[in-house]
Amino acid sequence: MRFAEDWIRCNQIGMDQETFHRIHLQLNGLSFPNKSMVSKSVYVDIPYEYSLREYVPRKIPVSDIDETPYYYDGDTILFLPSGKKVFNDRVIRVHTPISDQEKYSNGFTFPFLKTTTPFYELRINPKNTGQCPGRCVFCHRETSYRQGSLNISPLIPVDTIIRSIIDQHGEDSLKLINHVSVITELFGCEDTFLDYIDELKTKLFRYVGVDCSFRACALDVQTKSGLKRLKNLVDDNKYSFSLESFTNRERIMSRYKGIPLENVENLLYNAREVGFDFIKLNYIAGIDSIEDFCYYIKKFKGNNLVDMLGLSVFTAFTKGQKKIRNPYAWSASYYDNLVSALAEIGISIYEPHCFDMGFPEALINKCNIVYSINP
Ligand code: SF4
Repeated sequence: MRFAEDWIRCNQIGMDQETFHRIHLQLNGLSFPNKSMVSKSVYVDIPYEYSLREYVPRKIPVSDIDETPYYYDGDTILFLPSGKKVFNDRVIRVHTPISDQEKYSNGFTFPFLKTTTPFYELRINPKNTGQCPGRCVFCHRETSYRQGSLNISPLIPVDTIIRSIIDQHGEDSLKLINHVSVITELFGCEDTFLDYIDELKTKLFRYVGVDCSFRACALDVQTKSGLKRLKNLVDDNKYSFSLESFTNRERIMSRYKGIPLENVENLLYNAREVGFDFIKLNYIAGIDSIEDFCYYIKKFKGNNLVDMLGLSVFTAFTKGQKKIRNPYAWSASYYDNLVSALAEIGISIYEPHCFDMGFPEALINKCNIVYSINP
């Protein structure tokens, strides 16, 4: 990627320099003085200007110094070609994720833990066998099917997770949660998944505050009766489907997850029929061409099958993952084009700060942004 050329292009379409760097940091990663001391990804807490939250955590690949122009230098990030600081004088906080074993044996994380609203979101990930039937090439979970399995229980019981949260963070932490999201390795069975989240909601919600909402990425749920049951469990009347990409679906995901688009459309029709008012598609930008994206998103919108996107930038942590990035998606202008298409079609973007690899806020502010609480 020639950064100077890309910058000229992005400048012409009105992108500011900081937004340009935020995108390229996710695409190219961050290098460190001593890479061997750092894990393969880090959380970079980036100053956040559109919210009461002071920082928002972003998951960034750790790269060799010859793979990226970004270099971590104490409490700042340098853009090596110019030697300048990327975020001016604002302090950047970099922390490594907690160890994989600890994270996955707990069955939960607080992704905002190091920020000023540590208990904003509780993520529950109870299944960590390392053998997810999703088999996504882009998976960034350290225990994905590619990496073999961890020697832990295949399904962490609900009671164990609740007890661990209370032991580690105190019962009061649960009252401060804005939303609980179930984001897990797939269960491979609709009923087992639904039984689990039913028990989780019943038991966990004895502790949380009245305004806390419950959400689940429910790819295991694929029948109409399953969708009906799901609707009674989740809040917000919102159905979340992890579409990820419109093209190359079976190649980059398994048959179980990468179901053909016609089947996806049927599933979404059924979600509408059982009464979901909002359909959110989780989408990873950077795999489809812009032309394919525009074609399919218009089609889905025209058929009333999408209201908003949970949008993230495809972030590659391995050489194999880099290969599935669309060649044009190495340019920051790709992401601007995609957002412009969404603004034109009238599709909202959902809580951008809740995605570890979310879009920079300044880029998406031409779209309608949906927050579950005021930012
Ligand atoms: S479904 Fe999720 S956990 Fe499973 S392989 Fe795909 S991205 Fe990874």
